Amino acid sequence: MFAEIHVERGRIRAVLPCHTGSIIITESSTFQFPGCSIYPGFVDNHAHIVGLGNKLSVVSLHTCTSEEECIQTLQQAEIPANGWLYAMGWNQELWHTKNFPTNVNLNAAFPDTPVYASRVDGHAMWVNSAAEKIAGTQSVNGILIDAEMDDIWNAIPPVTEAELRARIILAANECSTKGITEVHDMDVHPEWLNAFRSLAEEGALPIRVQSFVQAQHSEWDKVGVLPAGGELHRIVGVKYYADGALGSRGAWLLSAYADDPDNIGIQLLHKNELVQNIKHAVESGWSSIAVHAIGCAANRMVLDAYQEIREWDGGADVLLRIEHAQHVHPDDVKRFAELRVFACVQPSHCMSDAIMAEHRLDANRLPWAYRWRSLVEQGVKLGAGSDFPIEPPSPLQGISAFVNRIPIGKDEAWFGEERLTVEQALHAFTDWAHATADMDYRRGKIEIGYDADFVILDAEIEATPADRIADINVLATFVAGKRKYSV
Ligand SMILES: [Zn+2]
Repeated sequence: MFAEIHVERGRIRAVLPCHTGSIIITESSTFQFPGCSIYPGFVDNHAHIVGLGNKLSVVSLHTCTSEEECIQTLQQAEIPANGWLYAMGWNQELWHTKNFPTNVNLNAAFPDTPVYASRVDGHAMWVNSAAEKIAGTQSVNGILIDAEMDDIWNAIPPVTEAELRARIILAANECSTKGITEVHDMDVHPEWLNAFRSLAEEGALPIRVQSFVQAQHSEWDKVGVLPAGGELHRIVGVKYYADGALGSRGAWLLSAYADDPDNIGIQLLHKNELVQNIKHAVESGWSSIAVHAIGCAANRMVLDAYQEIREWDGGADVLLRIEHAQHVHPDDVKRFAELRVFACVQPSHCMSDAIMAEHRLDANRLPWAYRWRSLVEQGVKLGAGSDFPIEPPSPLQGISAFVNRIPIGKDEAWFGEERLTVEQALHAFTDWAHATADMDYRRGKIEIGYDADFVILDAEIEATPADRIADINVLATFVAGKRKYSV
């Protein structure tokens, strides 16, 4: 839309019609964008800021098309100060062999330097023997899946506070260029919170961050982290995992994988354990709960747990989210609405993974994958994110994925009945996404009293042909009335 917006103390004071473009008038400046549209700032409601900062500062294997190319890329990299060579992003699905790499050639190339390389989905790690020796792990061939990676993570010397701050800023600036004004940051280590808090207090954080702290092993409890408010940084929730991911066959399914008939995936938490953990968190003061669930069995288990929470004395007002909500059995779709559970989905995963999903799931179960429209039609508010650094942070690409649903390798809509309208897709990246952190009462709309978080685009999304939405450009991003990015 076009509008003239007056901002005072970071909030919208007036919204006036404008026929020629968008104008933002603050106490100190006037910003004019002739012919450009203004939208509420985009939210990425499931992402990993430090992960993106790492990705932007570590070796990237994302474009490598073979194990050999990965090793060559690693050999060209500089060894960081802590002595460990870290890479991210390998994806054997892009390789000719489609096989997981092994440590044989990696050991030959790096006999002494510990090397660890995360798979693109973060659920598998390729390590050499030098790393395993230090960490005390013993994989069969240099591949560690999910919890098996913990010993490696624990063995790596921590980054310094200065490095951490630099990586957070690197990632947050990248978000700003994409029109993102707020990120729901998942799996936050308690020891990172200080860097976020101090950056926010210094006014150095260019976006708003809602932290969801690690909880799988009671991390928050061990160090006594509790929720805390703030304009730019808020510690808001705790995050659990019910299962792994589909690519590494860690997603927990109700019946076996089509391409691995003895495997139903990995259950990472039992229902009773999850219920007890959530009750303890709520009794300690937390009011937002996020649980990762990808497979249909994991989604059902989390819904069962959430049902117990809703029936419990203290559970009526708890904000409950399922992260990914990727494969949902038809009987469970309406339970999201009945139990007031937010489905926090990543349209970009559907774009990247549809063909992989066709291998993992048979034809009967494929229609359960990435169900967006079915959830919305039940009255569920979808929150949308990218899960960066796994996928790039780009709400416009996300909106395009929601409305077109044409995955990589396809030339037409894939299960097109699950597409969203442009309006629904915009909600999922703005006010609905804010609802998933209980901030929709003052964010996600251009209305008087709302926070002055905006994105300026060179085209109106609603008037752009669906297949060209991803080409729309972000011209400027504002948080609390302050310009944080402009071309
Ligand atoms: Zn994630």
